[in-house]
Amino acid sequence: MDHWTLEKEFKFEASHQLPHHDGKCARLHGHSWKGKLYVEGEKLHPGGAKQGMLIDYADISAAIEGIVEGYLDHRHLNDSLDMESPTSELIAQWIYKMVVPILPQLAAVRIEETCTSACVFRPMEKTSESELQDAVVRAITDAQRCGRLE
Ligand SMILES: [Zn+2]
Repeated sequence: MDHWTLEKEFKFEASHQLPHHDGKCARLHGHSWKGKLYVEGEKLHPGGAKQGMLIDYADISAAIEGIVEGYLDHRHLNDSLDMESPTSELIAQWIYKMVVPILPQLAAVRIEETCTSACVFRPMEKTSESELQDAVVRAITDAQRCGRLE
């Protein structure tokens, strides 16, 4: 099956502090954070204004805009995300959980804390309907082979 992944970048300026860290991250400091939303799917719009698109890039941006504005940009993340120690890992997971209800095709979130350090959060694979069907068929076939089912 054909498969597409779209990437859309977003940016925000924010401070954070990792109070338990045994290095300089324990001090209050800020970053120009860069993030990326990954959207995946197998079907393109067959017609209309979005013909040939998996999803409009503008719709991906729209899904993150309010969250950047309300919680991330020019904020102290320990306070705005209500986290004791907002690491890249936890920020990426938090963003995923906030965006996926608005954008169900969201597959992963990348957060770059510096230009050399980044984290990608991707939840455990969602099992698709057809994969589930295949697993059931396999289980029945195995059972038949072992003589447990007619
Ligand atoms: Zn930092």
